[in-house]
This record gives sequence, C-alpha cells and structure tokens, in this order.
Amino acid sequence: MPSFARVLIDRSEGRELDYAIPAELRDRVCVGERVIVKVRNRRALGTVLELMEHSDVPGIRLIEGLVGNESTLPPVMMRLARWMADYYCAPLASVMRSMLPPMLRGEKIAGKKIRMAELSGMPPAQEYERLARKAPKQHAILERLRIATSAIPVHELLRESGGSDASLRALVAAGWIRLSEVRSTASPGDGEQVLPGRIPRLNPDQESVVAVLLEAIGGSDDAALQRPFLLHGVTGSGKTEVYLRTLGAVLESGKSAIVLVPEISLTPQTVERFRARFDHAGGGGAGVAVLHSHLTDAERREEWMRLQRGEARIAIGARSAVFAPLANLGLIIVDEEHENTYKQEETPRYHARDVAVMRGRLEGCPVLLGSATPSIESYRNALLGKYRLLELPKRADGQTMPLIRVVDLRLQGKRAKSDGGLSAPLQMAITKRLESGQQTILFLNRRGFATSMLCEQCGHVCRCPNCSLSMTFHRDDNRLACHLCGHTTTPPERCPECRDPGIRHSGLGTQRVEEGIRKAFPSARIARMDADTMSRRGSYADVLGKFRARQIDILIGTQMIAKGLDFPNVTLVGIINADIGLHSPDFRAGERTFQLLTQVAGRAGRGETEGEVIVQTFSPASPSLQHARHHDFAGFYEQEISFRETFRHPPFARMLLVRVRGVSPEKTSHAAAAVAKKLKGLAPDSVEVSDSAPAPLERSHGQYRFHVILKSSSGAVLGKLARELLASMPLPDDVVMTLDVDPYSLM
Ligand code: ADP
Ligand code: ZN
Repeated sequence: MPSFARVLIDRSEGRELDYAIPAELRDRVCVGERVIVKVRNRRALGTVLELMEHSDVPGIRLIEGLVGNESTLPPVMMRLARWMADYYCAPLASVMRSMLPPMLRGEKIAGKKIRMAELSGMPPAQEYERLARKAPKQHAILERLRIATSAIPVHELLRESGGSDASLRALVAAGWIRLSEVRSTASPGDGEQVLPGRIPRLNPDQESVVAVLLEAIGGSDDAALQRPFLLHGVTGSGKTEVYLRTLGAVLESGKSAIVLVPEISLTPQTVERFRARFDHAGGGGAGVAVLHSHLTDAERREEWMRLQRGEARIAIGARSAVFAPLANLGLIIVDEEHENTYKQEETPRYHARDVAVMRGRLEGCPVLLGSATPSIESYRNALLGKYRLLELPKRADGQTMPLIRVVDLRLQGKRAKSDGGLSAPLQMAITKRLESGQQTILFLNRRGFATSMLCEQCGHVCRCPNCSLSMTFHRDDNRLACHLCGHTTTPPERCPECRDPGIRHSGLGTQRVEEGIRKAFPSARIARMDADTMSRRGSYADVLGKFRARQIDILIGTQMIAKGLDFPNVTLVGIINADIGLHSPDFRAGERTFQLLTQVAGRAGRGETEGEVIVQTFSPASPSLQHARHHDFAGFYEQEISFRETFRHPPFARMLLVRVRGVSPEKTSHAAAAVAKKLKGLAPDSVEVSDSAPAPLERSHGQYRFHVILKSSSGAVLGKLARELLASMPLPDDVVMTLDVDPYSLM
C-alpha cells in the first residue's frame, strides 16, 4: 500500500509537495482526493496527484485529513484535468478547482443565509464614467451586475468583479444596488407555466437520425466512440425530440448522460421538456439534475450530490456541467454547440464543447453536438470526416421556414435612423400584427464599446487591409486600429466611398428603441427584456409568462430572447439593426451574425400562421445576411471558409491570444511590447506573431488592455511557446498577463 502522496497545493501557482499518508488513511486516499495539509505553518487544501511507495523528502509531514470523501476526482477526470491544463496552458490546480462546485472544494463559503445583490438602477452615464475613473472597484461591481439576469450571491459578485465589501457598501448607500437575503431553493423561473409532455411520432428524418445514434449507444459501433456526431438541424426541426429519444435509450441501458445547453437557453421551458419526460416514475426513476450559475452554492452542491449518489442520471447544465460526477456515462449532448458561452472567459479558459469531446473519448461514450447553425470549426470537422454529420433539413411541424425581408436603412429617411430606428415597412408590419391580435418580437443586439466606422449614406465600413476585419475607432486618440494585426491609421473625415461627412456612426440602444416604439404605438402593450430590466430574480419568468398569456403585444430585447423560446402567436420578428454584430472587429463577426439572424428568425411562425422576419441593415448585400435570408447554411459555410482560408484565420490556423493589462498605460504598453518582442525571438518561422496593440475594449475595470496574437498551424508549437513565455517573461508587479488558447472573445 502506498505510503506517500504528491499533493498539488491550492492557491500556490502549481506547487507540488510530498506528504506521508497516516496509516489510518492509507486505504482511503486515492488520486484526485482532496486533502488538508500544512504548508509552512498554515493549513492548506490540496489535491493528491500521485501515490508513491517511497519519498526522499527529509522530515516529511503527514496529511492531516480528508476534505470529505465525496469530493474526489476519479481517474478519468484526473486525466481530463491533465489534458486541459496542458492544452489550455492553465495551472492544473485551477483546472481541478473548476471541476468541482465551490462547496465541495472545501473552501469556506457563506453560511445558510445567503446575501444576494441586485441592481436597483444604473447611475447616469456621467456618474458611471466618473466611477470608472475614480472608483474602479465600484464600477467593476456594477459592470458585473449589469450582465446578471437576476440577483446574485454577494460572495460570487465580489469574487467575479474583484470588488470589495467597502465598494459594495458605497454603491448600496448611493442607491444603485439592493441587498437581500435568501434561504429559498426555488429555481429561477419557477412559476413559468409548462405544458405536459406529449410524445410525438418521429418523422422519417428524425427516425433515421435516431437509428444511427441508438446503434452508437448500443456500443456495437466502435468507431462512433472515437467520432463525435454533429447534428445539423434547422430551427424547429425537432433536434430536442431526437435528444429525448436518445436519452431514453441511454437510461434504459442503465447508463447516465450529460446534456449541455448554453446558459442563455437554460430557460424553464427547456429544462421542463427534459423533466417532463424523465423526472417521474415512468422515466425509470432516472431523475434530472440541473446545474447552472443562478443556483446558490448550496443548491448546486445538492444537485451535484444527487448525481454522484446516482439519484439523478441526467445532468443538464451550462458549461461546467461537462464535469458532472456521473459514473457509467452513456452519452454527452452539446446543444447549440456553436454558442460562445461554452467558452469560459476566466482561467482555465476552456471550451466546454471541446472538453466534452475529450471526456467522451476518455470515457468511451458517444458525443452528440447539435445546432441549427454549426460552428465553422465543427462543420469543417464533419466535412473532413472527423465528426459524423447527421441532418434534419425540415421543420418538424411541417411549417415552411419564415419569410425574411431585408430593409435597406440607407434608403430610409433620417427619422428612421434617429427616432427609435423603425423603418416604414417594419412600422407597417407591426401595425398589421396589432390589428390582428398577433405578437411581435423586436430584436436589438446592442454591444456598446467597440465602434466601427460606418457610413450611414452608403454603408461603407473601414476595414483592415491585412485582415479584412472592421477597424475599431478609438475616440481618445482619434485613430482607427486593427486589433488583430496592430495596423493603425487616421480615421477618414469623409466616407472614402461616397464622400459623405456623416461617417462617425453611433448605435441605438434598446432603451431608445423602446422610447421610439412607445411613441409610434401608444396603445400597444410593450415590454423590454435585457440585462438592465431583468436584474431581478423572477422578472424573466414574469415577462415571459405575460407574453405567453398574450398580455404583451411587443417584446423588445437582446440576445436573451433569441434562443429556445417557442411562442405560437408570434408572427413577426423585427431585427432593428443587423449591422451591430456584423462590424465588430472579430474574424467570427460574420459567423455570429449569421447564427444570430438564423436563431432569431427561428422564433417567428412557430404556430399555425406563417411567420415573417424583417431585417433592417445598412449592408443589405452582406453575405451573412443574404445567406441567413435564404436559410442557406451550406452557402454561408462555403463563402466563410474561403474567407478564413485567405486570411489564415481559424480553423486554418490555431490562435493564441496573450492579454496584458495594468493600471498604468505606459507600463502596460511597454510590457505588452516586450511580450511581443520576446515572442518574436522565441517563435519559429512557422508562427505569426502580431505587434502588441490596444484591445478593442481599451480600458476596462480601470485597467489598460493590450493584445498580442499568435497564429500557427500547430497547436503543439503554440503551447510550447506559451510555456516558454510563462517561464521566462518577467513583468512589473502591477501588470498581469493571461493566455487564451482558441480565444473567442477578442475584445
Ligand atoms: P429544435 O430543437 O430543432 O429547434 P424542437 O425539438 O424544439 O426543435 O421541435 C420544434 C417543435 O416541433 C416543437 O414544438 C416540438 O414539440 C415539435 N416536434 C418535434 N418533433 C416532432 C414530430 N416528430 N412531430 C410533431 N411535432 C414535433
Ligand atoms: Zn489587421
């Protein structure tokens, strides 16, 4: 029996120390076990990495105890952790921590009553800017709450924003934040009405897809275990029904399953479709556990334990549910696999879809990725034969795809551009719906900070000559910058295309749209749904409930309303400005716009009546828009893949983003330049290293931000470079460098 253990100490930048295992614990300590040890004279928590017969460490100390035998990571998960640490250049300790819910990490957390914080109002813009300068911590707290969809626990808020208790108190005193205490275990969105599950007969397309999947699950098809499935099915094609059937078979064979959905689709509507099918006696007592970020730590722990004890055999959740403690896995489903919320934007910066594929491989279980708009990466994998492509080309309910009309905003009068942004055709369409008692969804994807230069007369956008990405307008020093390659230029005074001087375009926000619409339709019942109005737990379900009950005529909202909602009486979807995403300085901008338009359009005409979608834009000829309009994914893919190839963007190169941030602009900029120089020295010729450039979001949380971007055809070469950089790059104390492998957010 091994008597020694190598322990990875939490919060120690990857330090590994050896300890002796006390005799009474020898048969209980295994790899992955969470243990209590002493480091110098302090108690610390750590994770057992390895068991050993011998150790040469003089005066070796004993392990003091176990955190609890519920929290071990089984060998498969340890292998997954090692792969992640290696692939994402992240400390193993951070990976292992992110695999466990906070309460099981053995960390101290709040007691039974949990303090919650929510936004009670946003300070006026001027005050907000002053906070950004004078009180960055307060600003960071508000920033975090702004994107919350409901109240969040104070300890999470402070951890995620880096704010302090004092800054929180100041905000409460100023009246911007409200605190409360909860004990409740009610899930967010309880009270949204759910229709009982009726099991439809599969149509022939679904039949053949399910047949292929069942064969893989039966285990008679060894190749399936090595090759994930990609299910490409148009919106409303019945993908969810395919998931349900397949899960049924997995449960019947006594196995368990993980279903990943993007946080934003974790609506009661989605969860309830799974519960209705499996969470009762007829489901074989299988039980569904739901894991998402709005649960309190205690709730999350409880769901986790139900999975671990085998009381629930299906885990549904966002990103981190990929680590769900299920033994005997029979299937991992990743719904809406193209969604970027699967990418974690803090260390370890993993992509849950890719981790799911790896976990499936390690566990020997099939992986099913599904989407109406697969990511370019996944679709290419399918075409190359690395994934196996399954298709559902038609709507399940026999409806035709909605008609999409494009309105050219360049041809609309000034009023449409300034006053709520409604063109005449969209106004007329709304009026028609109001008269016939049908409902309208208006969609505006307002993403504030990175402003491209857009000419309102001709639609011209300033692009980088090297990368073909829109350049970002930096107001402070009045210049245009490409943040991918660092190229800069002075902004034109007039549009280079049509000589119009009105090129400095600033966008509309949802709030202004709401105002405009209230003016245009004074008697309509209107609600707005975005991060600002939905900061209260329950308000989301409130509004959706009312909308479903037809007490609201027009629902205005952001991404929040783009996905997964199914309202039969909605026959019109209006997209206020399709360009906002299109011109963000990101090589995936076209892809995201295509995905978003397709998803939003999928909300229209889900019932008996045919749906109509009206898209307003300054760039009606843009390929993402035209292909979305014709429901032509293949055409979009063709043109997008050749753009990626020409400019050597992923998937034709692997990308590594080095972020450098700090409070001093000079120091940070110098450090970033030094990082770029160092990398250029280290890198072989096959790796492209950009100059350091200010990030599109130049300042955030009171810090200046710079980027250096590396591209290579080999991930391994990039990984090696990253490790060399980490090992050899001295940085000033107040400058922080982080690495992002396969970055998604280039802001
Ligand atoms: P997706 O997940 O691809 O968007 P859903 O699974 O939500 O599609 O299906 C869209 C609608 O079609 C749902 O209302 C669903 O109940 C219905 N549906 C799915 N499969 C069938 C079928 N075989 N027959 C009739 N209706 C179906
Ligand atoms: Zn460029």
